[in-house]
Amino acid sequence: MQTQTLPRSIESKEPAPNQMKCLVKENLNVNGFSLKTDVPKPPLGFDEVRIRVLTTSVCGTDKNIYLSSTNEGIRKEMQRYAANKEDYNPIIVGHEFCGIVDEVGPGVTPDRWSSVPRQLLIEPGDYVTAEMHLSCGHCLQCHTGNAHICASVRVKGVHLDGCFAQWVCLPYKNVILLGKDGNTTEIPTRIGALLDAFGNAVHILQASDVRGKSVAILGAGPIGLMATCLAKAFGATRIYLTETTDVDRRCALGTTFGADECLNVSQGSHALYQSVHKHETRCNGVDVVLEVSGAASAYQDAFHVVRNGGIVILFGIPRGPLSHFDIAESVIWKGVTVQGIFGRRMFDTWETMLRLLRSDQFDIKSKLDKIVAQKHYRLDEHQEAFQDLAQSKEMKLIFTPNGPQD
Ligand SMILES: [Zn+2]
Ligand SMILES: [Zn+2]
Repeated sequence: MQTQTLPRSIESKEPAPNQMKCLVKENLNVNGFSLKTDVPKPPLGFDEVRIRVLTTSVCGTDKNIYLSSTNEGIRKEMQRYAANKEDYNPIIVGHEFCGIVDEVGPGVTPDRWSSVPRQLLIEPGDYVTAEMHLSCGHCLQCHTGNAHICASVRVKGVHLDGCFAQWVCLPYKNVILLGKDGNTTEIPTRIGALLDAFGNAVHILQASDVRGKSVAILGAGPIGLMATCLAKAFGATRIYLTETTDVDRRCALGTTFGADECLNVSQGSHALYQSVHKHETRCNGVDVVLEVSGAASAYQDAFHVVRNGGIVILFGIPRGPLSHFDIAESVIWKGVTVQGIFGRRMFDTWETMLRLLRSDQFDIKSKLDKIVAQKHYRLDEHQEAFQDLAQSKEMKLIFTPNGPQD
């Protein structure tokens, strides 16, 4: 029998009016996503904004959801709000995006905000992104300016329908204006798709003062590379960066972004320990460690290389509980300060990142652009996209649910 070569990807059929194309996680025990072309366009709530998605990017959480059959942590998280812990209602995945406002609900009218200048309003046709963590507004954390760690946060694309879709709806207060009247010149759509992730990196750097400090950044994936740019921009005096995969490309970028040393720790941490020992002669380690990899060995490295009285910021999520973690030796006797980072502060992290992008100091936009794959993927190319990520062909990918974008 002769085998026929199929085209690399097949264009999916176009949805009927008022329906849309999207990627759905149907079953947590099965890897992958399903492309749907008959999902109703999301209905607009009273205080909501419906956005036509231009670009949407893929992050580590999406990879974990894609491979959920082998990741108990993400399965549990996605079932967190189910009435019965065994239940799971399929959702549209994806949580990093930018787009154009399609329609606003009756609770979002210029009349209501008549004293607000037009350039601050969010209106149909505006270019926006959004904070996809929906806080409850009522818990102690929400009441005390810490909505990013809201006790009942719901994340679009994890607990609720997300943005690997042609349209997404969000509460007005979560929408961030990037450009009036669809103006994407200041923040291009390749960068607009990354702001959720860039906000994580900004939040990490907001958590510790790195001015005049030595900093070890463990993990040179997208967040680690963004953190490297920011640590350099914010005045770190020496930056160590480590990585285990795709080391040549990531280290080349890391060096361009400001790392003084990029170390391959795939075969062990000796080179990192030796370098810290050689350079940090005034003390017994680095001032600040930013753990952004989630690799089990990186937690050992973090507490090994931090100096007594130093700071360890934890952002990467390990696959499960850490065994053999000696808290007395790692934290107590060294007098180390440890802080976990989740999401972005609402909304001071957003204000800081918009200022960084708009001023474009430190060439931050062109650096962010270098992290993203040149090729943009259609939603129906999702299998190829996740394969390219799994094989480390690319670090950060973009889908264009409504057709090609610049
Ligand atoms: Zn993400
Ligand atoms: Zn809350």
